[in-house]
Amino acid sequence: MWQLRAKYCPLCGAGLVLAMVEDRERQRCSGCAFVLYPNPACASAGVVLDDRRRVLLVRRRIQPYAGQWALPAGYQEVDEDPRATALREIYEETGIRAEVESLFDMIYVPDDPRRPANVAVFLCRVVGGVLNSGSDATDAAWFGLDALPQDLGFRNAELILDRLPRG
Ligand SMILES: [Zn+2]
Repeated sequence: MWQLRAKYCPLCGAGLVLAMVEDRERQRCSGCAFVLYPNPACASAGVVLDDRRRVLLVRRRIQPYAGQWALPAGYQEVDEDPRATALREIYEETGIRAEVESLFDMIYVPDDPRRPANVAVFLCRVVGGVLNSGSDATDAAWFGLDALPQDLGFRNAELILDRLPRG
């Protein structure tokens, strides 16, 4: 299981010690009341469909799944609504401007080696922009739902894309 380990309290700088807190062994500050809770990260992903019901995918530049295709997605900033995260990542990775139509699902991804994450997956539609790959992707392209690439990272097909109506 993924573990977050720290040496010092981020609030007062005293050392952290292992202790039983709320039925789990956790790191607790030896100098103040701080307890380190290693929560999942928050992330958003966008399922952008065009008027032919093709889905927008990016070929990932970075690990995990570097070189494989995936939905545009990324981590939520602390001052950002999850919808805004999805739209920002879509634009940064593909050049496409989109808007959210609905929340498709919230998916728990326990096997991301960086950190487990809760991913809010939004159905989106195109409102503008020009397709091009951005900073975190080496390529971006549209795929028919019946012609998805085989090398799809993050179990995107099983967890999300295979569940979309084929229309
Ligand atoms: Zn402390």
